Amino acid sequence: MKYRFGLIFLLFIFTAATWLAVWWETPSKYLTVAFLDVGQGDAILITAPNNNQVLIDGGPDRSVIRALGQAMPFYDRSIDLVLESHPDQDHIGGLPEVFDRYNITGFIEPAFVAETSVYQKLEEDVTKEKSSHLIAQAGTKIILSPEVILEIIEAKPATWGPRGGKPDTNYSSIIAKLTYASTSFLFMGDASIKLENKLLATEAGELKTDVLKVAHHGAKSSNSLALLRAIKPEIAIISVGAKNRYNHPSPETINWLKIIGAEILQTKDLGTIKLKSDGISVGF
Ligand SMILES: [Zn+2]
Repeated sequence: MKYRFGLIFLLFIFTAATWLAVWWETPSKYLTVAFLDVGQGDAILITAPNNNQVLIDGGPDRSVIRALGQAMPFYDRSIDLVLESHPDQDHIGGLPEVFDRYNITGFIEPAFVAETSVYQKLEEDVTKEKSSHLIAQAGTKIILSPEVILEIIEAKPATWGPRGGKPDTNYSSIIAKLTYASTSFLFMGDASIKLENKLLATEAGELKTDVLKVAHHGAKSSNSLALLRAIKPEIAIISVGAKNRYNHPSPETINWLKIIGAEILQTKDLGTIKLKSDGISVGF
């Protein structure tokens, strides 16, 4: 009797898990964008209505694994595309762990080879994983589902610091725009004002976006008022750790965002921030 009860219980669990899986995997009408709580750094999970997934950056360390585990169904062990915005620790530190734990179909990065051990480990992992490996180019469009397109807006090689000093990796930040019907999201990586000005010069009329992933954790070396006015987001997301040593975000950036009327949401206050779009409007 005991045995039979156990079997019935097991069957029930199995059925429940199957239903859960069906429920999760059914195409939805929503695009979701989750700005993961990874402390001081960036990690953003995009899930298209057909469940295709893109991870932009992997945060500073393995905290991304816990955040991904909460944002993805427990049985889902694959991510279609990982996009590295630029090779700084707070964006790629957790990516080797992501490659260890998930099957990754494609990897896209800027044309910049960093000399750090974490970058080299990541490149080894991409090769080991046999992921398609692409170097980002402005104009490339990644079609996630018929109406959901991720477009690379900027992708420049890094410039070198004065007298051959440290390379300016932030300058190599991939800037990407995600659109779903009439809604849009702009991901700025850690682009600095120098890169922002290039964007303003070439794309000024195209920048209006509903949701902005604020550049460089809200630093004042990014986020000029001119650029923020051109983007004019309704929602501004700042991915930032509590009491970080850089004092991000800067009061100037917060002030500019208030001036342009954006609703400011920060991961240090809210944890993971999950937004949903039905193609017409963006909400929670
Ligand atoms: Zn950063």
